Amino acid sequence: RSVYVNGDYLPEGEAKISIFDRGFLMADGVYEVTTVIDGKLIDFDGHFTRLQRSLDELGIENPMDRDAWLEVHRQLVDQNALDQGMIYLQVTRGAPGDRDFVFPDPETTKPTVVLFTQSNPALVDSPKAKKGIKVITIDDIRWGRRDIKTVQLLYPSMGKMMAIKQGADDAWMVQEGCVTEGTSNNAYIIKDGRIVTRALSNDILHGITRAAVLRFAQEAQMPVEERSFTVQEAMQADEAFVTSASTFVMPVVEIDGARLGTGAPGPLALRLREIYIEESRKAAI
Ligand code: PMP
Repeated sequence: RSVYVNGDYLPEGEAKISIFDRGFLMADGVYEVTTVIDGKLIDFDGHFTRLQRSLDELGIENPMDRDAWLEVHRQLVDQNALDQGMIYLQVTRGAPGDRDFVFPDPETTKPTVVLFTQSNPALVDSPKAKKGIKVITIDDIRWGRRDIKTVQLLYPSMGKMMAIKQGADDAWMVQEGCVTEGTSNNAYIIKDGRIVTRALSNDILHGITRAAVLRFAQEAQMPVEERSFTVQEAMQADEAFVTSASTFVMPVVEIDGARLGTGAPGPLALRLREIYIEESRKAAI
């Protein structure tokens, strides 16, 4: 696999970063995941805009402009003959000489940039989407700036492991009785034809897929309510689903062991999945 590190395209085994990199030592960095279908990028501009916002919130300088980022993404798609899968990008505050809580001088310490591809031919034609996924609920004990897409993913990773241990697929995180989001996705329920998802704030990541799906739902005359919902409300919903760049719209069929509806993926979730895939495929660059 050909990967990108600080300006160079290298075989993955030759790519190296410093042990003093603040991404490694302090999770001082941000990332994005852009999906590739038919060798094209889904919602590249949405991911670029959110990257800029995450960097601005942390005071890390963006090392490249939009067109330079696009060029690196396209090079990696070409060099790896990527048809379906994703491109992961990470920008950290870089590697100063010493470990220090004080941010290094941006004049001398430049951000570290790493990108790599991951192939996954089963994104569109996903066996999981046909069955739906099961979620458990766990306390949301993450920090208060979940709107910044940092590489600090230990708790979401632990949550996923708790779910797997209980025979489920993922965890929904809960704060003051209400669902914030999934470990790596935004969470939704549908009741009487109305789609409900938590409003944007510092409590959740502002999903690029969420923005697209809500737009498509409104265009398809499906009513949307952006508000918090409780676990109880979720367990009594007709349908539920999650969204993320790499899973698109993924139906949820069970919450904490309680089956939703018939236990099969709901019709509205499946319809939204189809619309999302069709429309984003058309708009891919
Ligand atoms: N919430 C969290 C916590 C996530 O990690 C992700 C995916 N990175 C999302 C939501 C979904 O965001 P997007 O649709 O931009 O992939």
